[in-house]
Amino acid sequence: MNIQEYQAKELFRVHGIPVPEGEVARTPAEARAAAGRIGAQVVVKAQVLVGGRGKAGGIKLAATAEEAEDKATAILGMDIKGLTVEEVLVTRAEDIASEVYLAVVLDRRRKRALLMASSEGGVEIEEVAKKTPDKIVTLPIDPAYGLQPYQARAVMLRVAPDAASAMAMARIAVQLYEVFQAEDCSLAEINPLVVTPDGRVIALDAKVSLDDNAAFRHVRIHDEMRPKETEGEKLAREMGLSYVKLDGDIGCVVNGAGLAMATMDLVKHFGGHPANFLDIGGSSNPKKVEAAMKIILSDSNVKAILFNIFGGITRCDDVANGIVQALGQMDVKVPVVIRLTGTNEEQAREILKEHGLTATTSMDEGVQAVVESSKEAVSR
Ligand code: GDP
Ligand code: MN
Repeated sequence: MNIQEYQAKELFRVHGIPVPEGEVARTPAEARAAAGRIGAQVVVKAQVLVGGRGKAGGIKLAATAEEAEDKATAILGMDIKGLTVEEVLVTRAEDIASEVYLAVVLDRRRKRALLMASSEGGVEIEEVAKKTPDKIVTLPIDPAYGLQPYQARAVMLRVAPDAASAMAMARIAVQLYEVFQAEDCSLAEINPLVVTPDGRVIALDAKVSLDDNAAFRHVRIHDEMRPKETEGEKLAREMGLSYVKLDGDIGCVVNGAGLAMATMDLVKHFGGHPANFLDIGGSSNPKKVEAAMKIILSDSNVKAILFNIFGGITRCDDVANGIVQALGQMDVKVPVVIRLTGTNEEQAREILKEHGLTATTSMDEGVQAVVESSKEAVSR
């Protein structure tokens, strides 16, 4: 589970890592009040679980409280890589003399934590890895001994701008490893870790992933920090459907995880973009079909819907009934393409026909049809 920057910074604070003071705001007025309390130049930062917020315009400097209010007005509600900004972090702006990258990540191959540092701070580490891999210093950490201060100093001396900063950064590296261990993280990252002109070392950004398998050891943290469920996710959980939202425009309702993956691949293959992964499972309960339709329609990006059902234990006639009921109850404005084959497919076709619907048996045909519909909707 990824947590927001302000939540990650709370964990940092607990373990002694210096972070700028800051407050979360959900409205421009709250942002103004927070900036007033900080009483200095601030940075208003979109709280969304994606990287590159800066480049996307989600991070803005404000000299005064009024300006912080304006910047918050611009950022709140903004769409960053498909996520709507609902909260901003208003934080004291720091002057930057130099910046480095520092992280503790899980090295699955070595089966241990890995300290990663680079002199190229503020840049995405994937970029550094591609262009100047020699600027990344790594150190596997022995779980029996933990990260020893002398090891951290040796690493940080290779990436810090000067020896004094390296010593401060080495302390932070040890604390970051403590965060990683104590909170059961799969990632704890500071990018950038900065040195101010007066020589203080501060974590300006924070990115933490908590290991869901360890949730039972951190009940409070996991409960508090769990990202809010969307309407669709809540309904999916209640109905026992497995649902993952994606950023395309073709809603897919499929039975079985394997078929769901294959369907998404085929949608891509024919030039479309799936809006979701949605597996209604092996049972054939018309209620699940209705729920699936509701979930998909809760995503305003959806331009067309594809049902792709392979009847085995799932009976096609039950799915057809579900589709008919759902279409009867809901105001569905987007085209619906149905592909079904297998158990009771004849009955299913009859049911659909009675309601003026048709279905194909070919997966290629169904997917091509829905991709075309989605494109027509876009060009309209
Ligand atoms: P990201 O783009 O999502 O990684 O967000 P960051 O928190 O890393 O911020 C992006 C960039 O904004 C940083 O690399 C800095 O260059 C800049 N930035 C963030 N906070 C401050 C600050 O307090 N002072 C200054 N001068 N720049 C900042
Ligand atoms: Mn960053």
